[in-house]
Amino acid sequence: MNVYGALGLKVGLELHQQLNTKSKLFCDCPTELRDDEPHVVFKRFLRPTRSELGAVDEAALLEYEKGKAYIYQAYVDTTCLVEMDEEPPHQLNDEALDVALEIALMLNAEIPDVIQVMRKVVIDGSNTTGFQRTAVIALGGPCSAIDDLEGPVRVQTICLEEDAARKISETESEVVFRLDRLGIPLIEVSTAPDIKSPEQAQRVALRLGQLFRVLGKVKRGLGTIRQDINVSLEKGAKVEIKGVQELELISKVVELEVQRQLKLLEIRDELARRGVSDVDSEIVDVTQVFCNTKSKVVSQGIMKGGKVMAVRLTGFAGLLGLELQPGRKFGTELKDYAVAWGKVKGIFHTDEMPAYGISASEVEELKRVLGCGPQDAAVFVVDEEDKAGKALKAIVRRCKDALNGVPDETRAANPDGTTRYMRPRPGASRMYPETDVRPIIVTEDRIKRLRELLPETPEQKLKKFVEKYGLSRDLAQLMVNSYNLNLFERIVSSIPQASPIVVATTLEYTWKSLKREGVPIENIKESSLLELFEALAQGSVAKEAIPEIMKALAERPEAHVSTLMDELGLKTMSPKEVQDVVDRIINDNRDLILSRGDKALKIVMGKAMSMLRGKVEGRIVNEIVKERIAQLLRSGGR
Ligand SMILES: [Zn+2]
Repeated sequence: MNVYGALGLKVGLELHQQLNTKSKLFCDCPTELRDDEPHVVFKRFLRPTRSELGAVDEAALLEYEKGKAYIYQAYVDTTCLVEMDEEPPHQLNDEALDVALEIALMLNAEIPDVIQVMRKVVIDGSNTTGFQRTAVIALGGPCSAIDDLEGPVRVQTICLEEDAARKISETESEVVFRLDRLGIPLIEVSTAPDIKSPEQAQRVALRLGQLFRVLGKVKRGLGTIRQDINVSLEKGAKVEIKGVQELELISKVVELEVQRQLKLLEIRDELARRGVSDVDSEIVDVTQVFCNTKSKVVSQGIMKGGKVMAVRLTGFAGLLGLELQPGRKFGTELKDYAVAWGKVKGIFHTDEMPAYGISASEVEELKRVLGCGPQDAAVFVVDEEDKAGKALKAIVRRCKDALNGVPDETRAANPDGTTRYMRPRPGASRMYPETDVRPIIVTEDRIKRLRELLPETPEQKLKKFVEKYGLSRDLAQLMVNSYNLNLFERIVSSIPQASPIVVATTLEYTWKSLKREGVPIENIKESSLLELFEALAQGSVAKEAIPEIMKALAERPEAHVSTLMDELGLKTMSPKEVQDVVDRIINDNRDLILSRGDKALKIVMGKAMSMLRGKVEGRIVNEIVKERIAQLLRSGGR
């Protein structure tokens, strides 16, 4: 048994993939995101009654009871009254349902005879209606599992749901959402918690991603696939991590979560060793301690009318500075709670003191006022009294949880694979049937028709890429796993003169190397790539110019390839123009060539390519250079 087996690690995945359908799930609007100025802005205060909320989590409720305003941005031409909740939803989008049913068929899941759209209550304002529409498309039956070398991972449910509105900004009093994303069809595949290691989690996610891509009809680019990961250890708790945007990050997220839970168990054991059985909850006003402080943050906070409020953490000395994940200490977890519940900017604690201009004598005085012993820590917050009080109460709650190890939480993924506290784990939220949408009967004919349309499996594609397109096995495998799989197939099938090897290497290697350079490569439109490979096939652009053109296309996705080629001076040269350039170089280097003979080829070639790179294929330059040098040598310089 490996280390994860011994820890009783269990992981379940929930993959959300946006579909690239013509229109949204419950209206005829296109599924496009926009960055231009919105045409319409309106404000709502969403106020469902408590009974409607059911088992909604307390944190969200707290947020909500503060009466935050929700501002929605809309477009007259690409959003409609449905997204604004001014008109009932239209019938479920057939195209999206077909895609979801195809996924279900590919995963051997069991499709019910009737599909009922449900309302799932959401209260964070991300939907104008106050709920999200979702439908179970299939349940994992006995045959529905993803095979993996560490054992099969069962599929639990496959749902089709509407994506939420896009959060644009948030302040204390309002949240701004854009309605362009609201209603884009999302397919959600949930697995059972059968995954036993970080690597297996990653493999299963990649395998699901591959199935989506093989099917086509899915959106690509950052934010179009999102995964939630449930991680639990036998002695830990079930922690739900939201919003991992890169499949490649999954193993790291799981690994770091295991590390975090183990550290929290260490803290629990240490607290037990120190005989700590409870956490004091007395919040003390210690503003007096800091009345002459040299700390700018503290003095400015006080000047603005804030107070310094503190709480003693008996037995916690040294534990707040303990690192749980790279760059994230137990003190960081406490800060996350304080920010989430008290809306404060940050916290101070004695494990990091003296610092921030706070002196050792101020720390001593603080500890004295709070009655701290040598094993005790203290946390303080500088803010309005009410906010500081809420923040410290949340910290006390979190510290009480530390006595038991790992709290049940919903956490959010950071880009580096670490996670931060988001909210308590909600109970199962209440669902209601969506009475505005008729239940859909799934006919046998429909299933039969979809079965016939099912795409080739990844294995069949691999074979085709090697045998029909002449790709090496390695390149073919990369392509089958690639984000650009469908793009590759569409380009190769619509431009018969294009070389599949060049298309594949461009979409794989050039793509990745540009991405590593930080080029926003996802911006490039499919139509631009088609234009580029068409130009390449016709010889009006050189292979060497591809990276530069792609870079330009990423910066200016609306520009035409031919325009960019003109601007960059990348139009290919005629053979006559190339010959002229080569002749000039040869003439300038006559003596060198005559004295070195064929050995001068490399030097001349280098000079020629420095002038011609991107304007003509290196192969052609090479031919001309060779020919001209041979001519010169034959003539002996006369
Ligand atoms: Zn609409």
